[in-house]
Amino acid sequence: MNAISRRHLLKLMGASTLLAATPGLLRAQTGTVARVVVVGGGFAGATAAKYLRLWSGGSVAVTLVDANLAHASCILSNLVLNGSLDLRNITFDYTALGNRYGVDFVQGQVESIGGGGNPYVQLSSGQRLDCERLILAPGIDFDTIPGLDSTKVPHAWQAGPQTMLLKEQLAAMRAGGTFVMTIPPAPYRCPPGPYERACLVADYLKRTKPGSKVIVLDANPGIVAEVNTFTKAFTQTYAGIVTYMPNVTVLSVDSDHRSVMTNQGQFNASVLNVIPPQKAGSIVTDPDAGLILSGGRWAPVNPLSYESTLVQRVHIIGDAQGTGQPKSGHIANAEAKVCADALLRAFTGESPDPAPMTNSACYSPITANTASWLTAVFAYDPVSGTMKAVPASSGEAPAPTQDHFEQMFDWADNLFADTFA
Ligand SMILES: Cc1cc2nc3c(=O)[nH]c(=O)nc-3n(C[C@H](O)[C@H](O)[C@H](O)COP(=O)(O)OP(=O)(O)OC[C@H]3O[C@@H](n4cnc5c(N)ncnc54)[C@H](O)[C@@H]3O)c2cc1C
Repeated sequence: MNAISRRHLLKLMGASTLLAATPGLLRAQTGTVARVVVVGGGFAGATAAKYLRLWSGGSVAVTLVDANLAHASCILSNLVLNGSLDLRNITFDYTALGNRYGVDFVQGQVESIGGGGNPYVQLSSGQRLDCERLILAPGIDFDTIPGLDSTKVPHAWQAGPQTMLLKEQLAAMRAGGTFVMTIPPAPYRCPPGPYERACLVADYLKRTKPGSKVIVLDANPGIVAEVNTFTKAFTQTYAGIVTYMPNVTVLSVDSDHRSVMTNQGQFNASVLNVIPPQKAGSIVTDPDAGLILSGGRWAPVNPLSYESTLVQRVHIIGDAQGTGQPKSGHIANAEAKVCADALLRAFTGESPDPAPMTNSACYSPITANTASWLTAVFAYDPVSGTMKAVPASSGEAPAPTQDHFEQMFDWADNLFADTFA
């Protein structure tokens, strides 16, 4: 146990004794200092639930709600498309969080939330969960595109059935066919992720379906992350296979005929992968929740605690928050720990850590056995009140290598274990 968590534990145990003498203040079983509900059991929510229990010595009651019994990780999911991994290898249930840390897990769809002094969530089952503090970690939702039916044209940008659908369509594609994918305007989940997918699909088609082509239609003015690595991959490693086009806006999709209409013309595909523009998960963007500014897509929060700047006692972490930090699972795990620490301090009347730091890493497979990486560190800037990148501590791999490919699995295993085990 580190110094911070030991200090929290002692203070919370003191608070728990005090509160136990005043039963009216208790909302859960005797000895419980407070109750927190966490919505979303992905990288952000599962980490927050685990560390709230761990660092409070079990004195904070935590209920984790997710629509599914297990979370399929987007991280490494592009390796499912080319058959390198099975989706089961990257799917995690919540048993360890319950057994080891005492997190209460509820499977259910949260339909709405109430904020203010006593936050609560309302499930579609009719169940209502009340708490002192609410953490929302629902990840992303997608804009509607005319004609797009994702049961026919998958995005595969939330792992699970969508990943399997795209994998099956690629496996059934004829040699000499065309894979067309679209990339939404930034910010979107995982800046290098779409370019990584283009590389892995090109590699797969090159090996198994000769003569096939990959067309990448990017809404952005250029490659968003690891420009040198992906430019080299598209123009050298996959020369003659990948065509990359910037500034392409998707206008509509014909899902039955797998074609996409854009501001630069119509593209017909053997397999079409449309990744729509993104925004915070719907429980955050619901106008009744009051968590989003007019016209906004992500929730404004105080990066010291991830508390909404619009609704007290409601915290938003992971892809749904709007601090400008990248939308990655690694940094979602770091944000969750900053948030958990701030809540434990709040329960004992302390202010949040005034100088939090977070970091992010993304490994990108470029071929079936080489990978590159990208990392960034962020520190709180008290002048602007924002998280700012620390350039000296950030960087990317000079070139994709086999070593990086192997290190990718160690990095992912550590992140998976820190989040779900
Ligand atoms: C192809 C790809 C590759 C990636 N590679 C990397 C990488 O190398 N490194 C990296 O750090 N990141 C990577 N990412 C990004 C990473 O997956 C996301 O940033 C991360 O999953 C965000 O975590 P989150 O907890 O905010 O959301 P999620 O992981 O999406 O979790 C949200 C959870 O909330 C639940 N939920 C949502 N709404 C409700 C509701 N109303 N009621 C109940 N439950 C609800 C969902 O079921 C889900 O389990 C990648 C993403 C993709 C698509």
